[in-house]
Amino acid sequence: MMFTSHWATELPNTYTELAPSPLQGARLLYWNQALADELELPHRLFLPPFANRVWSGQHLLPGMRPLAQVYSGHQFGIWAGQLGDGRGILLGEQQLSSGRRVEWHLKGAGLTPYSRMGDGRAVLRSSVREFLASEALHHLGIPTSRALTLVTSQEPVYREQPERGAMLLRISDSHLRFGHFEHFYQRGDFQQLKNLADFAIRHHWPELLTIAEEQPRYQAWFGDIVGRTAQLIAQWQSVGFAHGVMNTDNMSLLSLTLDYGPYGFMEAFDPGYICNHSDHQGRYSFDNQPSIGLWNLNRLAQSLTPLLSAEILQQQLAEYESVLMGEYSRLMRAKLGLRQQDAGDNDLLLGLMELMQHQGLDFTRTFRLLSEVRREVAPCRLQDEILDHPALDQWLQSYRQRLQRETVSDAQRKAAMDQVNPKYILRNYLAQMAIAAAKRDDPEPLARLHHCLQQPFAEQPEYEDLAGLPPDWGRHLEISCSS
Ligand code: AMP
Ligand code: MG
Repeated sequence: MMFTSHWATELPNTYTELAPSPLQGARLLYWNQALADELELPHRLFLPPFANRVWSGQHLLPGMRPLAQVYSGHQFGIWAGQLGDGRGILLGEQQLSSGRRVEWHLKGAGLTPYSRMGDGRAVLRSSVREFLASEALHHLGIPTSRALTLVTSQEPVYREQPERGAMLLRISDSHLRFGHFEHFYQRGDFQQLKNLADFAIRHHWPELLTIAEEQPRYQAWFGDIVGRTAQLIAQWQSVGFAHGVMNTDNMSLLSLTLDYGPYGFMEAFDPGYICNHSDHQGRYSFDNQPSIGLWNLNRLAQSLTPLLSAEILQQQLAEYESVLMGEYSRLMRAKLGLRQQDAGDNDLLLGLMELMQHQGLDFTRTFRLLSEVRREVAPCRLQDEILDHPALDQWLQSYRQRLQRETVSDAQRKAAMDQVNPKYILRNYLAQMAIAAAKRDDPEPLARLHHCLQQPFAEQPEYEDLAGLPPDWGRHLEISCSS
């Protein structure tokens, strides 16, 4: 295992070096074996005497150089000034034998100079939630940070009530945020801003280094950020994922899903779905995500005005909507099992969404069961999900008509649809059950759910109980910002 420290050496004055603070009775509760294998980690790291000390940041591995980064951001649309890693510490950058480099970031690692009013800690509840959601998105094929280890403790951490403190080690290609650029722009430190941009390009867009002149290079770079952000959000929309806190400091420059808090996977379809109980205005509601993505990109663009003209930035921003809509249509057509493109496809999709909304149909189950619909009229399990049969039949009639124009067989279409419509998603109540067990020091339900979510598209008879609708108690769980 080899660690490098490019951030520390190439970007002075963007961080504070400090080690994690011990967490009382820290104990490794669970780890991600598949990711550990990908990272070529030796098994002994997960056994005594290393396990509890390495994953709680008490035993640094050779080459690690822990630091907290400074950044700023707009929170809920308002400039919040300096934020920074208030409870997370970048332990180091691991160099893999493939040439890829990943960052190790320990969340809940104690106070930093950027903790403001916070305690520098994370609670077990939110750490389990981040673990599961980042893994769920990764296995749905959506770019995200990943979760490697989860440490519990006996240390009380005070939120609305006392909870157990925890630490999560997350792995990400980069923790660069829009907020990094906003920070140095707002301070008027344009040299540091340029250093950051050059650092990002050097390490994460090396193909752009062939563009010799700066302006066209920055232009291509920003254009790519716009496109990737649009694609990420289209992907979120296609699986019913709501991030919940799309503040600019939580927006990854590499368009990875980052900083999981009060997120939610939509169950009963509701375009105005607000997963974050503290989001009273619904700024980050499900159907606002595409426009918030653009709003955030506008804040990034503003920060890049020392590098690029406003005209060029506007030109790139103008691409956002068409990339997002193009990607979204492509994903949704695939979810409907449509290979050909037809002028009426959008209306067909809207018709289904209206039906889902009015009948309170489950987003994931509806699309999954759709693959069983046959071109010829025949009973289908979708009928068991809905009370208003005439409304469903009417939509099915137009769907079947549309399927007549497809050239593939029912079986081929089903196979393709089952590759894009997950059977298993992370339902709030499932996360809740894993959390309750973790609080009793039982990692089993978390492990079981994690294993299931690693193959969201496969039929897994042993996990059939995880594919159903939530029980009554699990339908309207309120998720607050506190984590
Ligand atoms: P978030 O929206 O959770 O990503 O947090 C926004 C900012 O607050 C980031 O700078 C976090 O590091 C910081 N923060 C959140 N929770 C805490 C905490 N418990 N202690 C210190 N800083 C925190
Ligand atoms: Mg954050």
